[in-house]
Amino acid sequence: MVGSDTMEAGAGGIALYLHIPFCQTKCSYCDFNTYAGINDLIPGFVRALCGEIAQWGRLLGGPEVETVFFGGGTPSLLSPEQLALVMDTIRGSFRLSPGAEVTTEANPEDVTRERMAGFLACGVNRVSMGVQTLDRGLLKVLGRRHTVERAGEAMKAARAAGFTSINLDLMYGLSLQTLDQWRATLQGVLALRPEHLSAYCLTLEEGTALHRWVRRGSLPEPDEDLAADMYNLAEDVLGQTGYRHYEISNWTLPGQECRHNLVYWRNGPYLGVGPGAHSHLGGYRFATGLSPHEHLRNVAAWETRRQTRESILSEPLLKSIPTVAEVEAIDRRLEMAETAMLALRLDEGLDLGAFEDRFGQAADDAFPGVFAEMREAGLVDITESLDGPCCVLTPRGRLLSNEVFQRLLSVRPRQAVGGRG
Ligand code: SF4
Repeated sequence: MVGSDTMEAGAGGIALYLHIPFCQTKCSYCDFNTYAGINDLIPGFVRALCGEIAQWGRLLGGPEVETVFFGGGTPSLLSPEQLALVMDTIRGSFRLSPGAEVTTEANPEDVTRERMAGFLACGVNRVSMGVQTLDRGLLKVLGRRHTVERAGEAMKAARAAGFTSINLDLMYGLSLQTLDQWRATLQGVLALRPEHLSAYCLTLEEGTALHRWVRRGSLPEPDEDLAADMYNLAEDVLGQTGYRHYEISNWTLPGQECRHNLVYWRNGPYLGVGPGAHSHLGGYRFATGLSPHEHLRNVAAWETRRQTRESILSEPLLKSIPTVAEVEAIDRRLEMAETAMLALRLDEGLDLGAFEDRFGQAADDAFPGVFAEMREAGLVDITESLDGPCCVLTPRGRLLSNEVFQRLLSVRPRQAVGGRG
């Protein structure tokens, strides 16, 4: 079977991602679908985003939304009034759960106490700030707008406005970055005591300024061994200060995990709106086109249609939606591989009993020999939890996680006799 019978959102509702594709300037390492110099589109974009949310709400019958994530791009370029309009549209089109987690990404440069108080007032209750590093020189290399001082001030402003759930994004493995600089950044952010920290290793993406500078020899290649030392240092330093390393790149104080991202890692249902946003719903993955200008036109075309509720998501239906550019039906085998791969990102790992309940087939049977091989190579281990045995990455497996994921994705799970196809 391709896709599932209905577009049921799952017992726990869906996650909603909103892509805000505007940035004041483009950072040197960034290949996200974001654009500088088109901020004059923002008012029209916000209206279109509301129209798109309303159309999806009608089509899906307004399911429960448990988490909302404003990402980008730079959602903090929106005014509190614009954000309030979007939040009101979400409330009017979906059932926003009373305890919903609502996150916005923010550039420290835009964060003032007043703006943050405005965001809080319209229902945002979590903020994620792109600090990246607390080293002056490296901030310049990355092309970030903010200064070291501004990062600290932004954190204080968000606190003063009343935010009690704050994430800071960091980057390591940068060209020119030393282990001491990374240690100083970790110590600096720890002094700010955010509830959550994300630390991503730099990947040199083709087409970015940083990639060009390295290729031309203006900057040294990032050193992979040094990056591994930085990862281990983060693990030690953050572990000693009470942060749980609950996902490969994420650390949390107790009870402050990012619920929105947990939906992704548990391979749950989510809807993405805005240009270049991805969705996973009703047995399909689908994505919108990248260009903001085109997206506005596509939303306008969709709004001329009277959207009615549909009880089944199908490929033809999805392809008939003007904003949808790509559709992929997820067959059961791909879903198994992705579920295993995503679960291994988490410290709770892959719950082997839950996997068997979900797919009617044991993981060892679906991926013959793969887990045993990875255990032998010291990449995964089996632990006992209250729910039963779980497969988790070892510290070595975390460092070599891409190898583990490639292995799972390249071995198409074996089909169980009589299973759903
Ligand atoms: S602010 Fe974020 S999204 Fe915008 S260019 Fe920089 S890294 Fe990319």
